[in-house]
Amino acid sequence: MGFIPTSVEKLIDAFARFPGIGKKTAQRMAFYVLKRNSDEAVHLAQAVMDVKTNILSCSICGGITEEDPCNICSDSKRREDLLCIIEEPSDIFHFEKTNSFRGKYHVLGGVLSPLDGIGPDDLSIDRLLDRVNTDMEVILATNPSVEGEATALYISKLLKEKGVKSTRLARGLPVGGALEYIDEATLIRAIEGRVAL
Ligand code: ZN
Repeated sequence: MGFIPTSVEKLIDAFARFPGIGKKTAQRMAFYVLKRNSDEAVHLAQAVMDVKTNILSCSICGGITEEDPCNICSDSKRREDLLCIIEEPSDIFHFEKTNSFRGKYHVLGGVLSPLDGIGPDDLSIDRLLDRVNTDMEVILATNPSVEGEATALYISKLLKEKGVKSTRLARGLPVGGALEYIDEATLIRAIEGRVAL
């Protein structure tokens, strides 16, 4: 039996599973919750429950939304002929923050990774091929990692077979870096300087 009560230990373990949160930070978070009043704890628990019950996946782009289709897919002012392909739903927010992209999105749900057993059938590539047409430009905005590059190359070949033009974000993005750590100005430059594949 440890000196930290079991229920506190369970909360620490739960926080420690968050990305980027180490054991020490998880302890500070758990003790912070302990110090707050019941209302605040209920509010936190409710917010966690709400995202699990209210958020669904957009049937068109695969982004997260409370209504299907999402606001971006149903926005008639956005360009239908410009489609940005990203790995995860959260990548949409990095592009939207730049306020400079007026096309639509398609979430792959990951990248090709043979070592992890992730092949083309595990990503929404078929759905992507159904969405595209020859009047469109598809921007392959997977991360500049080894898997992200391989996935972009794989998809660009499929698009080429269908006569669809694809581009890749311009270099200037750090190799191996993730979109979420890239500042908005760099991302805007990468969109503007995208290159044909
Ligand atoms: Zn959508």
